[in-house]
Amino acid sequence: MSSDSPIITASAHAVPSYLNADNLGPWGIYLQQVDRVTPYLGSLARWVETLKRPKRALVVDVPIEMDDGTIAHFEGYRVQHNTSRGPGKGGVRFHQDVTLSEVMALSAWMSVKNAAVNVPYGGAKGGIRVDPRKLSRAELERVTRRYTSEINIIIGPNKDIPAPDVNTNEQVMAWMMDTYSMNEGSTSTGVVTGKPISLGGSLGRREATGRGVFVVGAEAARNLGMEIKGARIVVQGFGNVGSVAAKLFHEAGAKVIAVQDHKTALFDPAGLDVPALIEHVTHNGTIEGFRAETINAEQFWQTECEILIPAALEGQITAANAPHIKARMVIEGANGPTTPEADDILRERNILVAPDVIANAGGVTVSYFEWVQDFSSFFWTEEEINQRLVRIMQEAFRAIWQVSQENKVTLRTAAFIIACTRILQAREMRGLYP
Ligand code: NAD
Repeated sequence: MSSDSPIITASAHAVPSYLNADNLGPWGIYLQQVDRVTPYLGSLARWVETLKRPKRALVVDVPIEMDDGTIAHFEGYRVQHNTSRGPGKGGVRFHQDVTLSEVMALSAWMSVKNAAVNVPYGGAKGGIRVDPRKLSRAELERVTRRYTSEINIIIGPNKDIPAPDVNTNEQVMAWMMDTYSMNEGSTSTGVVTGKPISLGGSLGRREATGRGVFVVGAEAARNLGMEIKGARIVVQGFGNVGSVAAKLFHEAGAKVIAVQDHKTALFDPAGLDVPALIEHVTHNGTIEGFRAETINAEQFWQTECEILIPAALEGQITAANAPHIKARMVIEGANGPTTPEADDILRERNILVAPDVIANAGGVTVSYFEWVQDFSSFFWTEEEINQRLVRIMQEAFRAIWQVSQENKVTLRTAAFIIACTRILQAREMRGLYP
C-alpha cells in the first residue's frame, strides 16, 4: 500500500427509520419499559436507577486496510449493561445503522432476558457500524479481528462473552475466539458462544433461538386454546431466527403464509414451501426471486394470520402499523421490534404479545449450555440440549404468564417484573463497592 493512500471513513448513514419524532429510539423504549415495571418492584425500586445506566460502554475505532489498499475506519461498541448476576453476555451485530443507543438498549434487554430465563449472566451487547455485505471475506475477517483486539480488555470467559447477532455467524465467532486466544497466549474457547462445533460450539445452538420462538409460540397458543396445526404464520426476517422458527412451525403443521426480508415480501395463502425457501436463501442471500406472489410492506403488515413473528430488527411494529395488524398473537423473535405505543395499541386490540426477553431467549440459553460444556470440556447430545432448552423456556414462560395474570399486566411487564426483581435482588445483596 502506498503511503499516500486516502483515509476513508464509514459514510454517514440515513437516520434509522425508528428514530423519527413519534418514536423514541431503542434506549428510550427500554427506559419506558423500566418505568412501567418500577411500581411492581416494591422496596427494590430504590435500586431502579441501576437499570437505567449501563455499567460500562466502550466505543472503539476499528481501522482496517481494504483489499484495494485504502484505509477504512468503522465505529465499534461493546456495552456491559449489568453484571450483578454474572458476566456480561450478548451478541455482536454488524450493521450499517448500529448506534450506541441501539447497543445500549440491546445490552439492557440482554440483562432482562438472562434474568427472565434465570441463566447466571448479566447483560452485554456489541456491534460495528458497517455493512458487511460490502466487505470481502478477507476484509470481514480483518474488521472482526481488529474489533476483537480493541474490546479484548473487557471481554473474557468470566467477564463478558459475545455471541452471534444480526449479520454475524459461526465464522465470525471463530475469528473472535482465535484473536482473543492469540492475545491471551492460550486457546480460550469459552470467550464466545455460537462457535462452530469443531471449536467447542454446542449442538443445537444455531437453531436455538428459532426453536425457543416456536416453544413460546406453542405455549402461548395453548393458553389461548389455539391449535398450531393449520395456524397461519407471518414472519418478518428470514435469517437465523426467522427461518428456523418458520421451519419448526411448518413442521408442526402450521402454514407460513407471508415472509419479509430486507429486499421483498412474499405471500402464499396455501403456505410457502419453507424448506425450499430456506434452500433459496442459502444460495441467494435473500427471499427475492422465490416462486411466490410478492406483496408490499403495507400488505405484509396487514396479512391476516394467527401468529405474527417479527424476526428482523427493532422498531418494526409502531403506532403506524399496529392498528392494522390482523394477528391473534405476536411472538417477538427480534429484539425490541415493538414500540411502547404499539404495545398499548396491541393490548387494546386484544392481540397477545410474547415479548423478546422470553420469546428469543432460546439462543442465550443454549449459549449458556455451550459455555458450561466448554468449561467442563464435556459435550452433550443434541437431544439433551433441546430437552433442557424446552424445559427452561416452558418454565420461564409459565412463570411470566402467571405473574401477568396475577397483576393484570402484559407479558412484557410480567417478564420485566421477574427479571428486574432478580437483578436488583442481586444488586442489593452484593451492596455497593467501595
Ligand atoms: P440474521 O442476520 O440472520 O437475519 C436477519 C433477517 O432480517 C434477514 O432475513 C434480513 O433480510 C432481515 N431484515 C433485515 N432488515 C430488514 C428490514 N428492514 N425489513 C425486513 N427484513 C429485514 O439475524 P438473526 O440472527 O436472525 O437476528 C434477527 C433478530 O433476532 C435480531 O433482532 C436479533 O437481535 C434477534 N436475536 C437473534 C438471536 C440469534 O441467536 N441469532 C438471538 C436473540 C435475538
